[in-house]
Amino acid sequence: MSDWTHRHVLDLAAFSLDDYATVLELAQRFRVMPISGARKLPALQGRLVTTLFFEPSTRTRSSFELAAKRLSADVQSFSPSSSSLSKGESLLDTVRTYVAMGAELLVVRHRCTGVPAALARDLDASGDRVAVLNGGDGLHSHPSQGLLDLFTLARHFAPEAPTPEALRGRRIVIVGDILHSRVARSNLWALTGCGAEVVLCGPATLLPEAFAQFVAAPPPGQAQDPVARRGSIRVERDLAQALQGADAVMTLRLQKERMHQHLLTSLESYHRAYGLTHARLASCAANVPVLHPGPVNRGVELSGALLDDPHRCLVEEQVTNGIPIRMALLYLMAAS
Ligand code: ASP
Repeated sequence: MSDWTHRHVLDLAAFSLDDYATVLELAQRFRVMPISGARKLPALQGRLVTTLFFEPSTRTRSSFELAAKRLSADVQSFSPSSSSLSKGESLLDTVRTYVAMGAELLVVRHRCTGVPAALARDLDASGDRVAVLNGGDGLHSHPSQGLLDLFTLARHFAPEAPTPEALRGRRIVIVGDILHSRVARSNLWALTGCGAEVVLCGPATLLPEAFAQFVAAPPPGQAQDPVARRGSIRVERDLAQALQGADAVMTLRLQKERMHQHLLTSLESYHRAYGLTHARLASCAANVPVLHPGPVNRGVELSGALLDDPHRCLVEEQVTNGIPIRMALLYLMAAS
């Protein structure tokens, strides 16, 4: 296992191949370990994990909380609607209140890009030994989702040994609202970091051509890319073309809450051009899986029949895998 150097986990741009290998190896151990309520792991006993979600969440928050409990941590969660934020308290002062109560690991989600990183900086500057894990910020990053998608794909391709190597040379198609998706950005770092060939597919309003250059230069704020040999990224507008030779297909939710103009003529026409159905996947091999980070707009990004098809659709597997991935992250961060 590599030496873990990430005090905070804010995005995957700083992850090396060794980091992916470390997280996947640990997650696989947690995944196959039979854990019931009575048989929790003691790793985080006496440690306090606080989830601060300033934006709604179904999966991520409860998955982090369950992961923390499985490691025997104490868990505290913050709800913006019933907090003093509505009385004018600053975000940093709110967070400091939790730190004063003993929070050591903060999982932060915010609708604005950069909030978890800004909090991490402010807490570091004030000498607090608190680790910040980004639970999704604006359009920027959702590292635990990127890692759980990577883990799900690695387990699909190599069930016995789900390592980053399982992704090398695989063609992974990502379809849909790439522009507004922090999941897509985290997946781009993770998948290319493990040597996959990523094909991005969507209309020009939701997928600017510039995404083909996403990993062409060192990651923002870093002199060097921590991954020596990345895979590739290609933009393809036509779904049938994009699906040629696919090893897996990931479709993304239309982020209506982040669309400020009319970027689509109608949901029906979007579904006709980019919606996944059994018929559209007929050109792919029968074992090509479909992923979606959720929440799904049923009948828009993919048909209800496909969503409900356990032979094709890995959505529930993604949710299940989210717990060991988050256990791995909390474990590594608590130990560093
Ligand atoms: N749950 C994911 C996120 O928070 C994906 C989505 O909302 O579409 O980014």
